[in-house]
Amino acid sequence: MKEQTLSILKPDAVERNLIGKIIGRFEEENLKIVAMEQRWLSRREAEGFYAEHKARPFFGELCDFMSRSPVVIMVLEGDDAVAKNRKIMGATNPASADPGTIRKLFSKSVGENTVHGSDSPQSAAREISYFFQGTNIFCSAK
Ligand code: ADP
Ligand code: MG
Repeated sequence: MKEQTLSILKPDAVERNLIGKIIGRFEEENLKIVAMEQRWLSRREAEGFYAEHKARPFFGELCDFMSRSPVVIMVLEGDDAVAKNRKIMGATNPASADPGTIRKLFSKSVGENTVHGSDSPQSAAREISYFFQGTNIFCSAK
């Protein structure tokens, strides 16, 4: 079923000029970019986005990292986009990510793990609306 999911290329990806390589992976897997913006998150925006992790010990470090330099935020659309994106990304900890996944290829640590992807269609809806107005999301022609 056609779905949308939120993807973020985290500061470590943008800092190391990995935008093109990572977006290329999504396109190869038939995920269509239907919204995209580069922006520098404030600490407060990062805290709001990751509010579900507020009680975790790494919350402060995570919000510092996500607001350290610009990110690229995208809506990806395609068949089973949520699960497909998670599969392309690989496990949260790059040490246990499958070969060929973005995190295995590029991530230096469990904190600086290069990409964010929504973990369910419900999270995707919430996360997409956190960053994008519906009118700025395009419908894919096919
Ligand atoms: P995912 O991004 O795979 O959905 P989580 O939702 O569990 O992972 O965590 C959100 C983000 O918090 C991770 O992508 C990572 O940047 C950071 N994080 C998760 N676990 C740790 C940890 N043990 N130490 C430091 N940072 C972490
Ligand atoms: Mg998550």
